Amino acid sequence: GFFRANIKQLPADPLFGLKARYAKDLRSNKVDLGIGAYRDDNGKPWILPSVRLAENMLQNSSEYNHEYLPISGFPSFTSAAARVILGDDSKAISENKLVSIQSLSGTGALHVAGLFLKNQYKSENESANASLPTIYLSNPTWANHFQIFNVLGLKTESYPYWNTSTKSLDLTGLLSTIDSAPEGSVFLLHATAHNPTGLDPNEEQWSKILDALSKKRHLPLFDSAYQGFSSGSLAKDAWAVRQAVNNMGSKYQFPGLLICQSFAKNVGMYGERVGAVHVVLPSNDEILQNAIQSQLSKIIRSEISNPPAYGAKIVSKILNTPELYKQWEQDLITMSSRIGKMRQELVNELNRLETPGTWNHITEQQGMFSFTGLTPEQVASLEKDHGVYLVGSGRASIAGLNPGNVAYVAKCIDAVVR
Ligand code: PMP
Repeated sequence: GFFRANIKQLPADPLFGLKARYAKDLRSNKVDLGIGAYRDDNGKPWILPSVRLAENMLQNSSEYNHEYLPISGFPSFTSAAARVILGDDSKAISENKLVSIQSLSGTGALHVAGLFLKNQYKSENESANASLPTIYLSNPTWANHFQIFNVLGLKTESYPYWNTSTKSLDLTGLLSTIDSAPEGSVFLLHATAHNPTGLDPNEEQWSKILDALSKKRHLPLFDSAYQGFSSGSLAKDAWAVRQAVNNMGSKYQFPGLLICQSFAKNVGMYGERVGAVHVVLPSNDEILQNAIQSQLSKIIRSEISNPPAYGAKIVSKILNTPELYKQWEQDLITMSSRIGKMRQELVNELNRLETPGTWNHITEQQGMFSFTGLTPEQVASLEKDHGVYLVGSGRASIAGLNPGNVAYVAKCIDAVVR
């Protein structure tokens, strides 16, 4: 029949495939440096103390029920989420230049943003025909970015980002791609803690990137999945986003700006799917604001009817309760500093073993991941011969390291590079 003849088996998702192989591995000293999920010093998932407190408060309150949320989400969540990324004093908020809608975590936010752009955003090329915008993604990027946009029928292109030989940012390549892309293209930027490289532009580099984007009237699409993981500070990790938004309509002439925000990692709400899309308008325009709100709502209504409630209520409780917010900021420091310590210990061990090569890039990188520079063959040998699992690109989730396994991992890396 048709099904038998036409439906092809696809290969397993690389990351979830890795997770399955790890689960089947019987070695007791195996180490999972694959998926980007925070682990504590014992290698266990961590429920943030702020989340525990919020859950207790929520379950004991009169607002605790499992009713539907509005189509656009839990209002006290989406408005507080906007303040987290844009800052309490954001003019985009006070001057009504913002539309926010709740999404299925960061992935759902990217999907809604992509569909919104596909439906509503036509870039005006030299030709008379307006065409769909191309989404420019960093090389490398989170692998899911490609298919999130490709399934919508949007074209994706890559911009240079990681310079393999220097293990640093290819700013020249990036700027020249921004310059040569058709005017009004969409550039997806990792707001902080770049996945997979762990390498972020510094402030001076960000300014050059934003200047170049503005000159070509490109549309910045910030993917913010790790706010707080790089520095431990929400404000510091939002520097680039705020720089772009606060200078819109003056220094920067963007046609608009989109932010896809995930609370999966920074509140540890991975499976609860808590996120938001924020659309920033170049100027205050109530008619446009309402129009965008209605278009986003139509997408949500047709696809999921309304977003999941439980996680959004917990995150809202944290963001809107001063003591819990303080606890959350503390939790971010706990996570980011533990990861920072593990980076340092890994490098210390490699140096102690006099492992061939240079390893200081591991401590210079930030966020959940490190692009180790290990080759696919070395990664394969780490998995097969030592039970140490990381992605073929050489990306290691540093959150998987702990005092009990870091020396072993260093020893194994040493063995495979010699
Ligand atoms: N963007 C990036 C760069 C990511 O690394 C991730 C998570 N791996 C996401 C978005 C979205 O994740 P989630 O859908 O779980 O929020």
